[in-house]
Amino acid sequence: MIILNKFYVTTPIYYPSGRFHIGTAYTTILADSMKRYHMLKGEDCYMLTGTDEHGQKIEEKAKEQGKTPQEYVDKMAEDAKKLWKTMKIDYNDFIRTTEKRHEEVVQKIFDKFMEQGDIYKGEYEGWYCVPCESYFTETQLVEGKCPDCGREVKLMKEEAYFFNMKKYADKLLKYYEEHPDFIKPDFRKNEMINNFIKPGLEDLCVTRTSFDWGIKVLKDPKHVVYVWLDALTNYITALGYGSDDDNLFKKYWPADLQIVGKDIARFHLIYWPIFLMALDLPLPKTILVHNWVTMKDGKMSKSKGNVIYPEDLVEKYGLDSVRYFLLREMPTSQDAIFSPESFIERYNFDLCNDLSNLLNRTVSMVNKYFEGQVPKYNGTPNDVDKDLEEFTVKQIDLFDEKWNKYEIANSIQEIWTLISRTNKYIDETMPWALAKEEEKEKLSSVMYHLIENLRKIAILIKPFMSDTADNILRQIGITDEKLINFETLKPYDKLQNIKVIEKGEPIFMRLNAEEEVEYIKNLMKK
Ligand SMILES: [Zn+2]
Repeated sequence: MIILNKFYVTTPIYYPSGRFHIGTAYTTILADSMKRYHMLKGEDCYMLTGTDEHGQKIEEKAKEQGKTPQEYVDKMAEDAKKLWKTMKIDYNDFIRTTEKRHEEVVQKIFDKFMEQGDIYKGEYEGWYCVPCESYFTETQLVEGKCPDCGREVKLMKEEAYFFNMKKYADKLLKYYEEHPDFIKPDFRKNEMINNFIKPGLEDLCVTRTSFDWGIKVLKDPKHVVYVWLDALTNYITALGYGSDDDNLFKKYWPADLQIVGKDIARFHLIYWPIFLMALDLPLPKTILVHNWVTMKDGKMSKSKGNVIYPEDLVEKYGLDSVRYFLLREMPTSQDAIFSPESFIERYNFDLCNDLSNLLNRTVSMVNKYFEGQVPKYNGTPNDVDKDLEEFTVKQIDLFDEKWNKYEIANSIQEIWTLISRTNKYIDETMPWALAKEEEKEKLSSVMYHLIENLRKIAILIKPFMSDTADNILRQIGITDEKLINFETLKPYDKLQNIKVIEKGEPIFMRLNAEEEVEYIKNLMKK
């Protein structure tokens, strides 16, 4: 693995046309977890999120609520920030596309593209989907409806500016070919090539005259910049591109990881790199496309009464169980399915039975047999200990390898395999029998290994379950920051003079499955 000195990760900027559901939370938790992982590796990390605040739909939403668009987006941005605070998202910057620092640079970029001949004036006619703010050609429609959201489309025509995408198609294909890490997972690349690039890339309409709520084109102010040229450039304007190029932008661009949902993959994998090429800027190292969080009966929708909001789950079950569930349940190549049953099952089995019990048993045994003082490592593990050590190191490698390939659910599974193995180690070594037989040395070694494995497990889960990790570390008496990073993760000889807390505190308590499933079902109907 290449060790990078810096790590810049972005979420999409979210379109605040309603309350954010659990899918939006998933994307943001994933980005945050990526950042925290790289922080534990000692890298200089920067995370960007924000809101995409222009467009016809915002204008309409604001009107519905008797607000100006600005009042409407101000409120929505506040709500988003509040949600990310609840989810403990450790972002460094929150960009809003209605901010001056963004708008002015978008205007500059537009003019530059005009001067370069990348943007030209024309007339657009096409099938328009209002919610998606996208035009589609006849062939792109699915059963006469919007291919992205499945809603009704209408035929519309307007004077508009276009970005000459065709000009860059070959260059983009070549880039894909030469940079195998640019798109993850790999199959998304083939989708782009086969569905969009090979059939002939359409030029992209980059302005509108049919609404006002957008960034005005300086030289032709009846036009406002249309969504993608406005939205995508946030990833660089937030760093000061075009206004303060010598600081954050110089330090962090190109992005190391940009995370997007599959519904906006096309815009990020085709238009975004082309805009960057036209600006003569380096492209992000990796764009990761994830699937959706769906429900048993398909996509989440208010009309189906199957929408789940992240705050409601966090309030009842705590933040880390929600973060754990979402990352653990999202496969790389399929949609995740949220169900109340699976949520409670993961809570009871993975978090309570496996993790919480391992901690409780260990803390109570160290208190019982050694008055809370963790015995010293004797440096010569016996066969049983050695087997555990080797298994643990192997699991750490597997976790790391999968995490870095963005197989997040699988990588987390490797940690839980380690947790199970550590629980099994207790059954194998039978500390209670060792105590009875006064096998002091063996018993010492068992306690030391259990505490070490809990430390390792806490570090491994820290990127996505930070509070739980800190809680475990506190209970086993590890407060020294030098022992909480990836550098000290593998060795077994790091702990000295460690004392566990006197009485262990359960981190997850078993839930009554039936009652809680009912509770969550009611939340979804609300
Ligand atoms: Zn649509």
